[in-house]
Amino acid sequence: MKSDNSNTIENDQPLSDTAVNINSILAHVKKPSRYIGKEFNAVKKDWQSVAVKVALVFPDLYEIGMSHHGLHILYRIINSQDTMLAERVYAPDKDLEALLRKKDWPIFSLESRAPLTDFDMVGITLPFELCYTNILTILDLGKIPLRASKRNDSHPFIIGGGSGSFNPEPVAEFFDAILLGDGEEAILEIAETIRQAKELQLDRQETIARLTEIAGLYVPSLFEPQYDKEGRLLQIKPLKPGYEKVNRRILPDLESVDGPFPPLVPLVRIVHDRLGVEVARGCTRGCRFCQAGIIYRPVRERSAEKVVKLAEQGITAGGFEELALLSLSTGDYSCLSPALGRLMDTFVKQYVSVSMPSMRVGTLTPEIIQQIKKVRKTGFTLAPEAGTDRLRQVINKGITEEDLLATCREVFAHGWKLIKFYFMFGLPTETMDDVKAISELVRKATKTAAGKNPRINVSVATFVPKPHTPFQWEPQLSIEEGYERIDLLKKSLPKSCKLKWHNPRQSFLEGVMSRGDRHLSMLIEEAWKLGSRLDAWTEHFDLELWQKAGAACNIDLAEYLRQRDLSEILPWQHLDTGVDESFLMAEFFKALEGMYTEDCRVHACQKCGACDFKTIKPVVQCKIKDSDIQESIEKNPAAREIAQDTAEYDVVNEKQGPAERFRCRFFYSRTGDMRFLSHLEVIQIFFQAFRRANLQVHFSQGFNPVPKVSFSPALPVGTESMAEYMDVDLKQPVTDQEFIIGSLNRQLPEGCEILKIALSKDNKANASEEMLTCYRISLGRSLSQEDQGRLQGFLEKESVTVSKIRKGKMRLFDLRNQAAELQILQNNKIELIQISHQDKASSKPMEIIKEVFGLTDHEVLDARIVKLWSKKAGLSGL
Ligand code: SF4
Repeated sequence: MKSDNSNTIENDQPLSDTAVNINSILAHVKKPSRYIGKEFNAVKKDWQSVAVKVALVFPDLYEIGMSHHGLHILYRIINSQDTMLAERVYAPDKDLEALLRKKDWPIFSLESRAPLTDFDMVGITLPFELCYTNILTILDLGKIPLRASKRNDSHPFIIGGGSGSFNPEPVAEFFDAILLGDGEEAILEIAETIRQAKELQLDRQETIARLTEIAGLYVPSLFEPQYDKEGRLLQIKPLKPGYEKVNRRILPDLESVDGPFPPLVPLVRIVHDRLGVEVARGCTRGCRFCQAGIIYRPVRERSAEKVVKLAEQGITAGGFEELALLSLSTGDYSCLSPALGRLMDTFVKQYVSVSMPSMRVGTLTPEIIQQIKKVRKTGFTLAPEAGTDRLRQVINKGITEEDLLATCREVFAHGWKLIKFYFMFGLPTETMDDVKAISELVRKATKTAAGKNPRINVSVATFVPKPHTPFQWEPQLSIEEGYERIDLLKKSLPKSCKLKWHNPRQSFLEGVMSRGDRHLSMLIEEAWKLGSRLDAWTEHFDLELWQKAGAACNIDLAEYLRQRDLSEILPWQHLDTGVDESFLMAEFFKALEGMYTEDCRVHACQKCGACDFKTIKPVVQCKIKDSDIQESIEKNPAAREIAQDTAEYDVVNEKQGPAERFRCRFFYSRTGDMRFLSHLEVIQIFFQAFRRANLQVHFSQGFNPVPKVSFSPALPVGTESMAEYMDVDLKQPVTDQEFIIGSLNRQLPEGCEILKIALSKDNKANASEEMLTCYRISLGRSLSQEDQGRLQGFLEKESVTVSKIRKGKMRLFDLRNQAAELQILQNNKIELIQISHQDKASSKPMEIIKEVFGLTDHEVLDARIVKLWSKKAGLSGL
């Protein structure tokens, strides 16, 4: 009955010889579902059949890492090769780290639960600066020496990549090599080089020498930074002739590559639980604070046809309820109008919403706003960045207050009640008047709404000068200056406005790392030894540890926030983004003058140096503006076809008459690792499986339509069950039960299985009715005479009352009264039949077992409990 999808994990048996058996510890961590893997479309290959094994590491928790599009791309590319495999590793939370250390177990991949040392290469994403200590946690738990210089032939190659690689100096000593730029092509060259080196039995140094021949690959050990007495850089000395500068790798054409397909579908809620389709890479708007706007130049767009195709394939294969059009500025995507119309036409009918996470004021036309609201009113966030037109000119934002207010008016007019604004403070030339102006702008924007109670909420963060930008020489605000601005806003913003701020202490450390040099490897290692973990998480972040580490290493952290002289050697000077330093400097001076630099995608080339105009050049698919669409349609048959589809949209989606409704009860089991999922996560898994299996289900009406399905009461996390059910409102009757069960089970992860389908009777117990539920429990030990005696003692009592906290309130429960039957079976298992009422809170079955057998909390977590059946008292079956 289970999945025949060859790309889906089929069983619990790890294929790596040294796989870690984590089942015994998962029940003891806060969120075990982060570590079980088994996502739909995950790939688990035969370890014996491949020549190169790659662990792809994202150095933060699963919820963040699993949302990262880049890692999914590399995962698919490597796994598309017969001779290679890729598996994933995410940072453990502190509780799992402690357990692994206690047991002396290595960190493991999700797919095969293999230790890092079983891989030939470990590819680590460098997404942001506050994840650096997590890299050390992962290497250390992986039993790999932290410093590249200490590794030998038995260790995998540690290769970095991602947007943080353009100043990797603070972590340079931990990496054997770091890829600059787009990874699509380079990842296979790197893996193939390692394969050949293995075949030729080259040693580590010989292999690294070969890696330097791959374009875009930076080997830090072949560059030696030299400092003066004050610790400032004198030069970065190349140690290998002919390897003096490393140029970034760039994919000339996004159209020629597909997105990550089939998409990985997480079982647990993650930050961005959706299908991402990249519509463009690169942005040439020229915001002077933006590093991504420099390192991903030029703009390379996908055609509308390709975007629509990738979206349709991805939603079919993934079952997501949201599609996100990804790019640095999706509103600037030249084919947005035709693509969006076509996507909405397809997806509105399937209740799939389309979101554009990076929309810019000035690109939000009424037409686009109208499209966005068709399925769900996703949140509306606008980024004015600065409070005044003057400061926005300095940063080259290219929008005026008038543009911003016009957009707010439009958004409010379309029914939104809340808009979020994002600002930075500490931008070059900022004065306190610019900060005060934020509050004034919020007042004006609120007044653009015609309806009642409009709200603008504000998020602020300290500006962090980034390498390779026109502001890379500028100073950063101190922590105190950051708080001063927050206080000013707290006092001056309207009462209705909620203010959120990024912790200035975290921005301080981000600033240190962002423009840091190689000295910081020492600081990071020291802070990690002192206990720094998961620094991007406010609840874990502790600046004091970093300050202590700074004192121990004789490093003044605040020094890294200072202004740089324009002639100063910068730690990233030998790493070339393609954009000329002279362009950055010219932009810096233009900023001081408030001069605007136009976007080269619609105006002339601004001569930044990124393009060679042979292979590398801007790729703009529809060279039209929204206002020119009509004219373009006349000339472009493909666009005409799409536009016609869009025009028909409203007719197709006119309210249809009430469709027939067939209410069925689907019985299902939830066993194995699925016991670690929450009720909401299981609901999500079924909704996605319905979409993938094309099961026609009615949806609710209103703001956020969801499938009309009601589930049996939530099962406590950790409990398995053979007796769950859901009542589903189908659009068609079930004529072939076996076919539907088979189709659905192929779309469900191992451990979730539809058992049978029945016409839904009104089986719901009314509030006063008694329910009986049978559980089978195995403790992690043999049951003894003493246990039998305890059980006997319990059964002989009239009542056993305990107090428990439920929803924050103290409640009394009579455990004896709830245990209708309780016995030890021949097979060393316990059977409990528990009585409950729909309208009364009851104890959890393990609370009864714990009390009866005097279990410790640890023993409770080690127990396996399976719900076997549930029925109304007095009924012989369901
Ligand atoms: S070289 Fe010219 S066209 Fe290419 S990204 Fe730079 S400014 Fe744009």
